[in-house]
Amino acid sequence: MNTSDLLVIGGGLVGASVALGAARSGLKVTVLDEDDVAFRASRGNFGLVWVQSKGFTLPDYARWSLASAQSWPELSAYLKERTGIDVELKQPGGLHLCLSQEEMDTRKERLQWLQDEVGPHYQFEMLDYDELRKRVPLVGPDVVGATYTPMDGHTNPLKLFRALYDAAGKEGVQFKTGCGTEDISYANGIFTVKAGGKVWQAPKLVLAAGLGNNKLAPKVGLYAPVEPNRGEVLISERLRPMLSYPTNFVRQTDEGTVQIGDSHEDVGFDDGTITSVLGGIAKRGIKCFPILANANLVRAWAALRVMSPDGYPIYQASESHPGAFVVTCHSGVTLAANHVMRIAPWIAGGAYPDAIREFKGDRFLNKNLVFTNGH
Ligand SMILES: Cc1cc2nc3c(=O)[nH]c(=O)nc-3n(C[C@H](O)[C@H](O)[C@H](O)COP(=O)(O)OP(=O)(O)OC[C@H]3O[C@@H](n4cnc5c(N)ncnc54)[C@H](O)[C@@H]3O)c2cc1C
Repeated sequence: MNTSDLLVIGGGLVGASVALGAARSGLKVTVLDEDDVAFRASRGNFGLVWVQSKGFTLPDYARWSLASAQSWPELSAYLKERTGIDVELKQPGGLHLCLSQEEMDTRKERLQWLQDEVGPHYQFEMLDYDELRKRVPLVGPDVVGATYTPMDGHTNPLKLFRALYDAAGKEGVQFKTGCGTEDISYANGIFTVKAGGKVWQAPKLVLAAGLGNNKLAPKVGLYAPVEPNRGEVLISERLRPMLSYPTNFVRQTDEGTVQIGDSHEDVGFDDGTITSVLGGIAKRGIKCFPILANANLVRAWAALRVMSPDGYPIYQASESHPGAFVVTCHSGVTLAANHVMRIAPWIAGGAYPDAIREFKGDRFLNKNLVFTNGH
């Protein structure tokens, strides 16, 4: 029998962040992760630490994203100090490139609405083409303008993943792979999980299994109706520095490669790439930055986003199975700081973070689930 204070099911960015934070709060934590057949959004994302326009219709989500972005420098410094890994956080602000005047107008409306709701510290600027060119001289003439917010940034998501694992290991977290959960039962305040041919027990359990949460949540009295949404991404060879801000479609990584994204496709659990979709992504990237027409592409991939119907996170403690929690979201990079510093301490026994009261999975109960992807 393997016993811990906390079992975390799922070893993606969300599970690793929660495990690290809980171990820092003093818990003995074991993470059970499936094997390499699993869908892993954490290995296929765009690396943005992004606040801009998030939470349109739900300002709590804008506040939550902003709080995480503001805590990111602390997370990054801690990871560097604990592991020696620089996750290459840069927060110069971010640009949402607009390809039509209509898009500019819609974004202005949204950002103004968010500023009115969140407060004057939620800053944004509308940049016309000439102003945009001053900041990004290589931008193409088909771009009408951009919205800029100073709180956005980006990181190297694979280095982040490695640093979280490394730091968590140093805090005593045990990671077990090949441990797809076969069964969860609950008696006398103890969860018993069968996974990887073994039995694991703990008085606390976190479901952080990404798309796997949909099936696991009802086993512990929770509801997490998440569905896949495919995103395809291209990456170029290393180029000389060409872009000092992350944008919604294109960002230059710390290694010099240029990441060009991304699609939003409702295709179920199919994580294959489609040439016509990749072609569309490449064309849009070149429209934004014509210099990319001369760049060699070195890789393309697709990964499945973990989307709730309204696109916002799900954080909930089970009432019927005290000690069980679900933690799942679409923006696991952006929200990593919140998961380490705010969600994990709550799970470890600290106060309920009032900021998450709108994010219970129960908000979807008895509703016609329509997936808007409106994150
Ligand atoms: C194309 C794309 C671009 C993105 N861009 C960004 C971005 O710029 N910024 C941002 O913040 N976010 C972005 N994201 C989202 C981000 O990658 C995800 O929010 C994050 O990776 C989710 O992490 P996760 O741990 O919940 O899920 P996953 O990474 O999918 O991990 C889930 C884990 O659970 C395990 N698992 C599943 N079922 C079981 C089971 N039954 N038993 C045991 N283990 C199980 C799997 O093995 C897996 O390791 C993007 C995602 C995609 C696809």
